Amino acid sequence: MNSLTNSVHPKVALTKNMEVQSGAHVLYMYSDLSNYIENALSFLATGLELNHGVILIESPEMHSILKERLKQNGFSAKQVDSIICANHHDFYGTNQSFEIASVLKTFVNTVDPYVSNDLPVRVWSNVCWKKSTCCIGRKLPLYEQLADKEVASTKVFTICCYNGNEVPANIAIGLMKGHSYVMTDEELAVSMYFQPHKSVPSLFVERDLEEKINHYKHLIEELPDAVFIVSNYKVIYGNRTAAQLFEGGIEHLINKPIRELFQPKYHTLIEERFNRLQKGERVPLAEMKVQTLKQHVIDVEIVSFPFVLNDPNQFTTISIIRNIQERKEHQKLTIKTEKLSIAGQLAASIAHEVRNPLTSIKGFIKLAQEDSMIDEYYTIIEEEIDRIDTIASELLVLGKPVSIEVELCDTGKMLRDVCILLQSQAIMKKIDIQYQDVQMNCFIKCNSGQMKQVFINIIKNAIEAMDEGGVILASSHMEQGQIVIVIQDEGKGMPDHVVQKLGEPFYSTKADGTGLGLMVCFNIVEQYNGNISVNSELGKGTTFTIQLPAFKE
Ligand code: ADP
Ligand code: MG
Repeated sequence: MNSLTNSVHPKVALTKNMEVQSGAHVLYMYSDLSNYIENALSFLATGLELNHGVILIESPEMHSILKERLKQNGFSAKQVDSIICANHHDFYGTNQSFEIASVLKTFVNTVDPYVSNDLPVRVWSNVCWKKSTCCIGRKLPLYEQLADKEVASTKVFTICCYNGNEVPANIAIGLMKGHSYVMTDEELAVSMYFQPHKSVPSLFVERDLEEKINHYKHLIEELPDAVFIVSNYKVIYGNRTAAQLFEGGIEHLINKPIRELFQPKYHTLIEERFNRLQKGERVPLAEMKVQTLKQHVIDVEIVSFPFVLNDPNQFTTISIIRNIQERKEHQKLTIKTEKLSIAGQLAASIAHEVRNPLTSIKGFIKLAQEDSMIDEYYTIIEEEIDRIDTIASELLVLGKPVSIEVELCDTGKMLRDVCILLQSQAIMKKIDIQYQDVQMNCFIKCNSGQMKQVFINIIKNAIEAMDEGGVILASSHMEQGQIVIVIQDEGKGMPDHVVQKLGEPFYSTKADGTGLGLMVCFNIVEQYNGNISVNSELGKGTTFTIQLPAFKE
């Protein structure tokens, strides 16, 4: 307190026999109402006598009682009406939470007309707050310290009244830190705990932080994904969506080991992931199934990352769990629909292809009944039946993959076997199949029957494309973990539009072709994650290159 303040506020009487140094910020813990009224009267009366500004923050009932008493004590109506009265419920926002920043602002605004004109003013205020206000024990002392800082260098003289029967000792001590004096109904003393506005956190930073924290809390609560905070493998927080996802109150999930939220078959995986997180590693997004409190199983996607809480010794993570049930169902449906439509297309073309020979068989049988050239008809009938047989057997290879046996096969050996098998057919067309460049011990896990079928179909096409004899070169070698098989012919080659259509079911340029050979090849190679490419030059020949991932131990 400086001398200027002292000269403006002389010693003031609080009770009949008590004075206080002017400019003070006084904490009044009252317990008896009649004493409280007497003390208020003497404080207000002194203010009026000194012609100082007088502000009374109390209930409207108390305003009337005090004003009436002042008049009885000889003050004129004009004097009494000069007291600025404010309802303490409005002032402290009792209907809201105790917002330090806004209460302080109201206080500063109320005294501002005096402060900015350097006029003395005294404030009698009965502080009230909503009982359920969160952290009031922390907020009230902080408010008083901040208010003390505001009035420190002004001519404001404030008495902050608290109901001593309601304020617990810990809060009382906190309040004493923000007041230079403490008084009860009968006694006044210098506050032993007073910390003259030192190290008071900046109000506006505090407010920003509080707002921010609330903002983030709100954001997390409202997220459409379930958010869990997991500390030492146990759930310590779950947002609203988490409760919805698990079909129960969040209280049923708190303290549960995180793995128990999932289906038993994922328990080890979850533990593994959290162990990795604890070691500081990242874990990728994963799809799993959770088990709700009502024992329903739901497809989810989970992502987890470390989260620093107050205690660095606690291993804490945030896990975000997204319900992907609908997406999964949709995917399943799409796959099923696609499969059905492919099967449907195939079935239609097969029916068409099989019906052709059947129609001619039917026709010739009818002719045979009437005609004598029976032998010739029977030959045709036999040919047509063979054709149906060929189509059926080519398609059988496609039908098999579901139950085929897979083993480690040497690609070079399989290719050589096929070349030997087809050599006799080739020789009849003056073709030589050469397979010198075949590297052995290039292994692949496959069904040898299927893989040989691929080689047979391609080499057969090569033979069929070479009407004037020549050489077919077959080779196989390893290249960067891939087995590369090349089959090169000196046949008539293909124009681009034919190359584009290779692999389409029933696409054939041959009179007796089925157009299924290459479709089967593409299908099988794809099944083993391989790839077929074609290079063809009209009149010169065609090269088929098959790439397959080699078996790795
Ligand atoms: P198909 O042999 O029954 O006609 P494929 O599916 O085996 O049926 O072959 C489809 C078509 O691709 C053949 O009809 C032919 O026109 C063309 N083709 C395939 N391989 C060769 C090749 N090596 N040389 C030229 N044309 C080829
Ligand atoms: Mg063929």
